[in-house]
Amino acid sequence: MFNEERRLDQPIRWAMVGGGRGSEIGHAHRAAAARDNFFTLTAGCFDLDPQRNLEFAQNIGVATERCYTNYQAMFDAETARDDGIQAVSVATPNGTHFAICTAALNANLHVICEKPVTFTVAESEQLKALASAKNKIFAVMYGYSGYQTVHQARAMIERGDIGEVRVVNMSFAHGFHNTAIEEHSPGAKWRMNPEISGPSYVLGDLGTHTFYLASLMTELKVDQLSCMRQSFIESRAPLEDNAHVMLKFTSGAVGTLWASSVNAGSMHRQIVRVVGEKGSIEWWDERPNQLLVEMQGEPAKTLERGMGYMADDDAVSCNRIGGGHPEGFFESWANLYHRYALAMDAMDKADTERLDALWYPDIDDGIEGVRLLECCVESADSDSAWVKF
Ligand code: NAD
Repeated sequence: MFNEERRLDQPIRWAMVGGGRGSEIGHAHRAAAARDNFFTLTAGCFDLDPQRNLEFAQNIGVATERCYTNYQAMFDAETARDDGIQAVSVATPNGTHFAICTAALNANLHVICEKPVTFTVAESEQLKALASAKNKIFAVMYGYSGYQTVHQARAMIERGDIGEVRVVNMSFAHGFHNTAIEEHSPGAKWRMNPEISGPSYVLGDLGTHTFYLASLMTELKVDQLSCMRQSFIESRAPLEDNAHVMLKFTSGAVGTLWASSVNAGSMHRQIVRVVGEKGSIEWWDERPNQLLVEMQGEPAKTLERGMGYMADDDAVSCNRIGGGHPEGFFESWANLYHRYALAMDAMDKADTERLDALWYPDIDDGIEGVRLLECCVESADSDSAWVKF
């Protein structure tokens, strides 16, 4: 069961860049950070529009003098205070992550960054080096990885329940952008603009999540991949609204990843199916309280979150309420924010033993997501040639 008695000496003074009024993901960060009282929202630069920024800060209880019109001003002013912020979450469009995270680390802040972390692997590697030089945590918001069932799948695959993994079938394919919704949605519009979104649209927006989940569950490493991508809404070119990736893993296993925003009629369809020699495990983000286990020759089983047979430590510690009561997206995110806080605390206390024992999506996981995008674009632009990962 989740341990709510585990406390920090003091909550971490925390700020956000981005995530302002009407943003898609700002509230999820604040709700997750607030859940265990490990973070106090102390300052912010939430919105590009100064008036909306200020109103929003006031309405959610951030002191006016700690609401800033740009992130650099926030980092400068906050580092000059004795009670300045200690950590920041970056929830702005992709093209701004590198500059904001660099400035945050230079201001000696721990960072929680949205995905995809940067446009290039080289930039992400620079952030990793800077975080390491500053002794700061760099966490990445792969928000689905706090579900109990994800960790249960990982534990079962690791202990060999389904035998050696042969096939990994991944999809994150929703239908919400099957028409040119970006013509009247600013939140969709930047995602189709390579200057703001980066070298890909659905691969970065969706595929990086599922790729990370599959990597977490299976620990497989990609050797080579081949990708084709297209823009069914032509005005989205050169960015794709649909992509298929074939993967060869170093172990000899193979996989596919379908990322799409034109899967008309679908809500999310974020599914990871791992096929082993003896059976298969399937996880679906729209039903995160259940895990499907199908062993060859036996009736299919549905494992329920919160039950005693969930044996893995990480799976059990993610469980906030007993079986039968549904948990969801906010709990998954809160489980991650919980770990980010513990990691920041351990880093500040130079407690490497505690730090090394903690799992959370970090900059290395962020780098692999960006590497996926680089390789997919290289392959797709060379007629789906196989590319070394
Ligand atoms: P959005 O367009 O809905 O919101 C972006 C917000 O950032 C707006 O409030 C905007 O005013 C603000 N902003 C932009 N530039 C800024 C700057 N320089 N300084 C301060 N504020 C600034 O975008 P979104 O959908 O919330 O996405 C933001 C990031 O989160 C993206 O990187 C996206 O890929 C990621 N995201 C992650 C998940 C997830 O599940 N982890 C889900 C959605 C989005």
